[in-house]
Amino acid sequence: MSSRVKELQLARPVNNNTSRGTLFVVSSPSGGGKGTIIRHVLAVVENLSYSVSYTTRAPRLGEVDGREYFFISRDIFDEMTAAGEFLEWACVHGNFYGTAKRQVAEETAAGLDIIVEVDVQGAASVRQLLMDSVSIFILPPSPEVLRQRLLARGTDSPEELEVRLRNAPEELKQYSAFDYVIINDEIEKAVKQLASIIYAERARCMRQESLVREVIKDFMSGQE
Ligand code: 5GP
Repeated sequence: MSSRVKELQLARPVNNNTSRGTLFVVSSPSGGGKGTIIRHVLAVVENLSYSVSYTTRAPRLGEVDGREYFFISRDIFDEMTAAGEFLEWACVHGNFYGTAKRQVAEETAAGLDIIVEVDVQGAASVRQLLMDSVSIFILPPSPEVLRQRLLARGTDSPEELEVRLRNAPEELKQYSAFDYVIINDEIEKAVKQLASIIYAERARCMRQESLVREVIKDFMSGQE
């Protein structure tokens, strides 16, 4: 990379593009594999953050408060909703989940891109609120694979598992409202696809306008 472009980038927010980071909304039915894909993508894509949601669901074995979710009571959830602290929230499979406005606002303002992992209702809300967000639907390759993944996770009671499987077809129908769809038949391929989407979105003209303008200005001044 030329030292001039590097210099211009250093003078800018971390994603080097516009002044704000981009919000990537990732949805799939429970057990669709989005958690694993996102974890891998966060490890390989630079300047990318993850929004930790709030939920009233009980922690599963191995889940850590503040890492997978902030686990809160229904009362606190209602207080946060009333105080307008959520960018979006929804009731999913009988539990409440919400994305905190603050984390998303702070990190995108600092120029970081951020992934929010939400259900299809949450994705629809974010799309309406933030027109320049990018939404990605992760599609499990078959009902059998979805069932196997939920069983292998071993964290849901038989009743919870049935609810999740029963709700999946309705969620899947919403795929066409998303900007991208990734069929998660092979984890490595799915990780590459999600990372590619993020890189491609970063390269959009509209997201690089100010940096490109500076570079072009250099060319113009050389002609004087
Ligand atoms: P799980 O209980 O399996 O972790 O998540 C259940 C569902 O809730 C998943 O579809 C997950 O994407 C969704 N979810 C997690 N966090 C949020 C959130 O902040 N908002 C919304 N709307 N859905 C969420």
